[in-house]
Amino acid sequence: MAIERTLSIVKPDAVAKNLIGQIYSRFEAAGLKIVAAKMVQLTREQAEGFYAVHKERPFFNDLVSFMISGPVMIQVLEGESAIQKNREIMGATDPKKAAAGTIRHDFAVSVDENAAHGSDAPETAAVEIEYFFGKDGICPRTR
Ligand code: UDP
Repeated sequence: MAIERTLSIVKPDAVAKNLIGQIYSRFEAAGLKIVAAKMVQLTREQAEGFYAVHKERPFFNDLVSFMISGPVMIQVLEGESAIQKNREIMGATDPKKAAAGTIRHDFAVSVDENAAHGSDAPETAAVEIEYFFGKDGICPRTR
């Protein structure tokens, strides 16, 4: 299995509920390392750019408004199969369909306010990581 990096966001609903630490604990317990992190109040332009792939979807404007409704915590997670592993830790997009013990099942109430984002493939992970952390915003964990 390959060591991968993935972009993760603790969304405004989960930040507002004071869940950053509990969510980070789940990443670390699963063996994922945080190699970059920052709290950001996204601008509308940043949120629209990040979700540009969804701009024709009916939920796009509501999604952008939600993502700028409060600060988010953005991090890069590194580890074996980090992209898939993070998707498993998050659970299904709709919290009502998410498995018990996942972030979305345990901490979110609706598909439009679903606590966490995680890249869905190596190509999107690379683009999303560079979008928020540039080419040299990662702290390699060598110890
Ligand atoms: N979303 C929404 N309504 C929908 C589908 C998606 O508000 O009917 C939002 C939701 O916050 C989701 C994000 O759009 O996390 C991106 O959707 P995607 O299908 O990429 O899901 P994800 O990869 O986040 O599980």
